[in-house]
Amino acid sequence: MQVNNVSMNLSAVSSKQYPDEGYPEIALLGRSNVGKSSLINTLINRKSFARTSSTPGKTQTLNFYNIEEQLYLVDVPGYGFAKVSKKQREEFGTMIEEYLSTRNVLKGVVILVDGRHAPSDDDISMYQYVSYYHIPTLIVATKMDKIKRNQWNKSISQVNKSMQINQTDDLQLFSAETKYGKDEVWSWIEAHM
Ligand code: GDP
Repeated sequence: MQVNNVSMNLSAVSSKQYPDEGYPEIALLGRSNVGKSSLINTLINRKSFARTSSTPGKTQTLNFYNIEEQLYLVDVPGYGFAKVSKKQREEFGTMIEEYLSTRNVLKGVVILVDGRHAPSDDDISMYQYVSYYHIPTLIVATKMDKIKRNQWNKSISQVNKSMQINQTDDLQLFSAETKYGKDEVWSWIEAHM
């Protein structure tokens, strides 16, 4: 998609605050620091629209980015940070569960994993969690510019093997540094919105 207009996000912690235009939504999830803000900024051709490196422990909200009055990209706060309290983790669980289980304009989920490492237990749990709702899912392996090309197949098999990706879901390699995979991520989003 050629993106020129992105309007400032709307933040929500509960369903009463979700936008109500009826635009399709694609949610993005991943551990803190995995490169989620960088992916969003790459998709919308901005340098720092989505805040990078969200601080663990601060108020966690769903951020809705309105893209061309056609679509919302929904930035779901990073999971799996050790520093947040049990109470914060529970609140996060409730917020994301409410969103995933009730949002009928939610058309797809993008789960980001760090291409340099085997997916963490948190990544695997998050994928299993999302799979339960039968929402089409794209796994994006980030930071591929840090890995030699001749190792890319190894990354692909590592992610496939540990996440046991369903046949109906997809895997895409990505780099915010080189923009590798940007068009493919957009194609996936456009095919699902
Ligand atoms: P978030 O916490 O998931 O939103 O992660 P950020 O987008 O803030 O990225 C975390 C760190 O990883 C930052 O220092 C980014 O510059 C870096 N980063 C993100 N994506 C890439 C990438 O594709 N390649 C490289 N080399 N670094 C990246």
